[in-house]
Amino acid sequence: MQLVLSSWPEVESYLSRCRTIVIPIGSTEQHGPNGLLGTDAICPEIIAKKAGEEVDMLVGPTFNVGQAQHHMAFPGTITLRPSTMIAAMIDWAQSLSRHGFERIYWLNGHGGNVATITAAFSEMYHGITFSRSGANTPSIRCMLRNWWELHGVMDLCRQLFPTGEGSHATPSEVSVTYFAYPASQKRVVMTPKIAPHGPIRDAEDYRRRFPDGRIGSDPSQANVEAGEKIVAAAVAALVNEFRTFSAS
Ligand SMILES: [Zn+2]
Repeated sequence: MQLVLSSWPEVESYLSRCRTIVIPIGSTEQHGPNGLLGTDAICPEIIAKKAGEEVDMLVGPTFNVGQAQHHMAFPGTITLRPSTMIAAMIDWAQSLSRHGFERIYWLNGHGGNVATITAAFSEMYHGITFSRSGANTPSIRCMLRNWWELHGVMDLCRQLFPTGEGSHATPSEVSVTYFAYPASQKRVVMTPKIAPHGPIRDAEDYRRRFPDGRIGSDPSQANVEAGEKIVAAAVAALVNEFRTFSAS
């Protein structure tokens, strides 16, 4: 069940059964020569959507722009300042809380978002604690899970791509997007075949170190079949975690 494809009576009825919502959260940033700019938003979105087709789970709209400062030397990237992202996440959470949602499971697709998402949770809990007298039980609980850390997913990715997985524009994440949008696949010869590793600093430094945008990866290995397997593993794990979190 997707929030954007539901009517308000359907959401009201869902709330009578369940008070948990899943929000895919990602980024709009360069993903190398053959990766889609939406990769980090598309990956958690397709996993959550598929899970929401299998079980009674409401999936919210995708929070699809995040912390992408270091990718700004590549055209198409959009970034939020940490303070803007925290403010927007709080407004999303407060809107949902206003309707009776008590648990928000944020399924994240971008490692660079983690520190800011955690800071946003801290701001939310401060707001709750400061606004209520004598009650230390938060009225909303948040959970963060990076999709590649869902049970069994990382092992599967290593098995599918023993070399050239790397850390940015990985064959695994590109495969997931190719499974989601097969018509948007791009075949590009990569030179060097496996991209260099190195530290992440500002945008100009990034482009000097990683001229085509990849870090340590060979995403020319990406394929729809691998994406389908990764999504299936992630969906199974997400369904389990959603049930545990909802019952907590
Ligand atoms: Zn990514």
